[in-house]
Amino acid sequence: MTSSLLTVSYIGASALFILSLGGLSHQESARRGNLFGIIGMILAIAATAIGTGWINNFGINEYGTLAAAMLPGVITGAIVAGRVAMTSMPELVAILHSFVGAAAVLVGIANYLSPVQPFTGVEEVIHEVEIFVGVFIGAVTFSGSIVAFGKLRALISSKPLLLPGRHLLNLAMLAAAIWLGSWFLGSEGYDGLPPLLIMTAIAIVLGVHLVMAIGGADMPVVISMLNSYSGWAAAAAGFMLSNDLLIITGALVGSSGAILSYIMCKAMNRSFISVILGGFGTDSSAATQPAAHLEGKVHTTDPAAAAETLRNAKSVVIVPGYGMAVAQAQHSVSEITKTLRALGVNVRFGIHPVAGRMPGHMNVLLAEAKVPYDIVLEMEEINDDLPETDAVLVIGANDTVNPSAVEDPNSPIAGMPVVEVWKAHKAIVMKRSMASGYAGIENPLFYKDNTEMLFGDAKKNLDAILTHLK
Ligand code: NDP
Repeated sequence: MTSSLLTVSYIGASALFILSLGGLSHQESARRGNLFGIIGMILAIAATAIGTGWINNFGINEYGTLAAAMLPGVITGAIVAGRVAMTSMPELVAILHSFVGAAAVLVGIANYLSPVQPFTGVEEVIHEVEIFVGVFIGAVTFSGSIVAFGKLRALISSKPLLLPGRHLLNLAMLAAAIWLGSWFLGSEGYDGLPPLLIMTAIAIVLGVHLVMAIGGADMPVVISMLNSYSGWAAAAAGFMLSNDLLIITGALVGSSGAILSYIMCKAMNRSFISVILGGFGTDSSAATQPAAHLEGKVHTTDPAAAAETLRNAKSVVIVPGYGMAVAQAQHSVSEITKTLRALGVNVRFGIHPVAGRMPGHMNVLLAEAKVPYDIVLEMEEINDDLPETDAVLVIGANDTVNPSAVEDPNSPIAGMPVVEVWKAHKAIVMKRSMASGYAGIENPLFYKDNTEMLFGDAKKNLDAILTHLK
């Protein structure tokens, strides 16, 4: 394989990655997008392994080393991804981001100790800046993603850790990293290793601190932010290794992650800058008083009465949340939708942008259960119709339907748009108990006069409703 063939393969892989991102932006084309991504990645790996080997005259030893490094990774990745439950997918994504960060750190340090090619003058300075910045971003991504993994897996409390003067602390760490950077750039030979390693340790602490300061409900933006950081870390590794494809791929992931974070910030009414600085959605937001404590009467219902309400309704809106994923209730939801539509009821879905535990979580589950795309609407598309809706069925959603976001300025989620289910004539809320959602805050929806709680596992109750409907 000549170097021009290698370049052509890289361009082909880059084009496939762009087509993949384009495909993934719509449910109808998501599978095709995924396929483009897979083909692009196979092409990228094959071209890099064969092409680089060809150019550098790799022998059996070099290919043996490459295989020894890649095969365990490929096998472990396939087993882990094959076994992961849909509800644990966000954790897997978070931990995979940490691998990208760790890879950027290791590539950076290895590249410093043993450069791919000798550099002199300005080129050497640029190369050292690439190494320093790449290792910094990689280390922040590495530790931040591990904390995000811990929070999503409930190994670490989802409550924000708010150290006094935390923004100053972040600034001090950043200033120390910049100072270490000037020491690193001014060093000869391997003398730059101590500042590089000290900066790595500081960046690891910074990553932990930034993500620890984020409150539960704001985690989605952090996940997409870390996704973006992992892309920039990969792009930095691409610069270090002078690998164009890695630069392009990293930039695609970095910029698409940044755009996704921006979209999520807008959807949640949060400031983009405060996310980057960490610790938003906490005491620094509007809240100055404790959130209102809830008291009142809770009305309960049973599957037979819920089925009756749904059968008699002209219009029904279903609002799924994380609980639907836990209960694996999407197929039962799909069956109920079919049955109600056959009875002439207008059934639609209202999807909050951060429902579940990852962007698009609910859409993926509903698509898997073959719910028609055209009745699955975004929050802002459905909210205006809710006052004219006869019944809303809330399936395991909690934070994303919490009225305190609009009604209580002291709530930790104040200002976040939610699906305003309480405006419908009746809301049936399916969950197992009065427990709070991921953000750990109480929900006044459960005490409203037009709310009926249907306690129990969502799948069991939906199946019982289905039996009554039929
Ligand atoms: P929540 O996490 O707020 O609430 C889910 C509810 O489902 C719980 O209150 C639980 O109540 C109920 N539940 C759990 N299991 C079952 C079951 N088997 N049957 C019936 N109910 C069940 O969900 P939302 O989707 O409303 O909100 C998502 C939250 O996660 C937001 O705070 C969001 O910010 C956060 N988040 C979102 C991410 C994303 O990218 N989408 C990423 C990280 C965090 P009970 O225990 O009583 O059954």
